[in-house]
Amino acid sequence: MVLAEMGGRIIGALQNLSNATIIDEKVLTECLNEISRALMSADVQFKMIGTMQSNIKKTVNLDDRAAGHNKRKIIQQAVFNELCNMLDPGKPAFVPKKGKPNVIMFVGLQGSGKTTTCTKYAFNYQKKGWKPALVCADTFRAGAFDQLKQNATKAKIPFYGSYTETDPVKIAQEGVERFKKENCDLIIVDTSGRHKQEASLFEEMRQLAEVTNPDLVIFVMDSSIGQAAFDQAQAFKQSVAVGAVIVTKMDGHAKGGGALSAVSATKSPIIFLGTGEHMDEFEAFETKAFVSRLLG
Ligand code: GDP
Repeated sequence: MVLAEMGGRIIGALQNLSNATIIDEKVLTECLNEISRALMSADVQFKMIGTMQSNIKKTVNLDDRAAGHNKRKIIQQAVFNELCNMLDPGKPAFVPKKGKPNVIMFVGLQGSGKTTTCTKYAFNYQKKGWKPALVCADTFRAGAFDQLKQNATKAKIPFYGSYTETDPVKIAQEGVERFKKENCDLIIVDTSGRHKQEASLFEEMRQLAEVTNPDLVIFVMDSSIGQAAFDQAQAFKQSVAVGAVIVTKMDGHAKGGGALSAVSATKSPIIFLGTGEHMDEFEAFETKAFVSRLLG
């Protein structure tokens, strides 16, 4: 598991620091280089690593601190804080308001785990007494509607879709309208993906957002996409107002690096993690817990 490996390397770097009798500029630089290599191998963007390095150096500010301060603790804390900062876009995600018809649109490439995540998200709120509904606006992938229908039925969540209609915009509009009339308070729109970023996909997302007027657009990202995360997230952000990120497949060979890039590219927080194929394998995102796990 890459997260554990990365944690191990960072811990190693901090331990080397603990073993050094004197913590001077050279020891700090070596330690930061080791941490950077670990972050790079976990696909954190090179540019972000550079920023992190210089921020840590500024925080630690070895020369200016009076003797007697615990420099190791200061450095460890600075690394922890900096990783937390990289995951914090500075503004919270939209929080659905109970009793109102919140429209949540999911976007992401094909295979990212979007359809699965839509149901997990709905199920998570349903357990808390909400009235969610699912709309399948994916007419691109054969079997998409059947998959959503199957998931929704299992969770006893109302759904809307069509086997014959080929216009996703029409389906989305009809589905959202219907569930608004039925007083659903969480109307989730699952959209189509493609294998790669394509102009037609983004135009479709733009049109879907126009007709459904979502309160929140969630970008779903497979944790294993690595360095591709930044461009992918940015491409979606440029066509629709992405306001939150969900990272899936954290149970697999998950690389934490992509998550950091997605936050940076969309300027949006991660709100949940997908941790398995089942409906309840879904966790609320906790920055400190995530970083602690990252550090081992
Ligand atoms: P979509 O094309 O983006 O709608 O992706 P799907 O929801 O169809 O998911 C693609 C595959 O990833 C399916 O086999 C899902 O069961 C699987 N999947 C989705 N989320 C997770 C997760 O958190 N962990 C694991 N292990 N598999 C997942």
